[in-house]
Amino acid sequence: MSETALRLTGKTRVLAVFGCPVEHSLSPAMHNAAIRALGLDLVYVPFRVERDRLREAVAGVRALGFLGVNLTIPLKEQAVTLVDGLSPGAARVGSVNTLWWKDGSLMGESTDGPGFISSLEEAGGLPDTALVLGAGGSGRAICFALAERAVRIILANRTPERARKLAEELGDAQVRVIPMDAEALRGACREADLVVNCTSVGMSPNIGVSPLPPDTLRAGQTVYDLVYNPLETRLLADARAAGARAINGVRMLVHQGAYSFRLWTGVEPPLDVMEAAVIEGLEKGA
Ligand code: NAP
Repeated sequence: MSETALRLTGKTRVLAVFGCPVEHSLSPAMHNAAIRALGLDLVYVPFRVERDRLREAVAGVRALGFLGVNLTIPLKEQAVTLVDGLSPGAARVGSVNTLWWKDGSLMGESTDGPGFISSLEEAGGLPDTALVLGAGGSGRAICFALAERAVRIILANRTPERARKLAEELGDAQVRVIPMDAEALRGACREADLVVNCTSVGMSPNIGVSPLPPDTLRAGQTVYDLVYNPLETRLLADARAAGARAINGVRMLVHQGAYSFRLWTGVEPPLDVMEAAVIEGLEKGA
């Protein structure tokens, strides 16, 4: 039997990712690699689920006894209303990317924020001040995670009302909203020891563009791009050229997946195996 062949048995439990589109998700490759490495009797399968079918799909999770599910675009917010309980983090962010069973209840968790923090800690630690670009789904998760750890946040979003609304929700966290213009971004970059891109600017196929004007970054700064396709974005190339430390989105993807995996199985997954599967998937053009 080849290393990649499926070994399904009558006891095999099912994990899944629901999304629309879901065809390019790297999660099946990442989680199945961990499952194979650990020799677990599990299989992780992608399902294309439209927004108006999510309620039925979650009923299917209950009826079919899936062990766990990941949710991706555009289902993360709607799923909040379909679970039996939410973790405090998921309730704060208002979004769920993981369904898991706890004492017979289907629980919703948001692992993006914890995954981001773990990847930062692994890369050397938390900053005092972070410039966060983007107030969409990932921007929300990252801001709540940073605020919880008392990191000062400077927040910029193309649509300013969205940033202001997020700042209000963050409450007494130290957050300052700035316009997304060159002058304001330059000033914020002088202050911030971490810059995080939570926008989709620079993501394939629109590569070669950066959310920051040129010559804004500096040595001693860490620049984290949540985008992982391509692995080296224009922003990260600019960061390296400026002598800053550059981190792409792969390790966050791996850490958020690892959080989900632990919730489902109680087993510590092999992070490097998961990362290798993600990179292989990206190289194959997932
Ligand atoms: P989202 O909820 O759709 O938010 C998109 C964000 O990008 C919004 O802030 C939006 O601003 C901004 N934006 C889009 N086009 C822009 C443009 N031309 N100029 C300036 N801002 C622009 O998406 P998301 O889920 O947060 O994902 C954002 C990126 O993070 C994606 O590339 C995604 O792949 C990546 N991501 C990575 C991980 C990981 O594990 N590494 C996890 C989650 C997401 P407006 O509010 O003005 O529309």
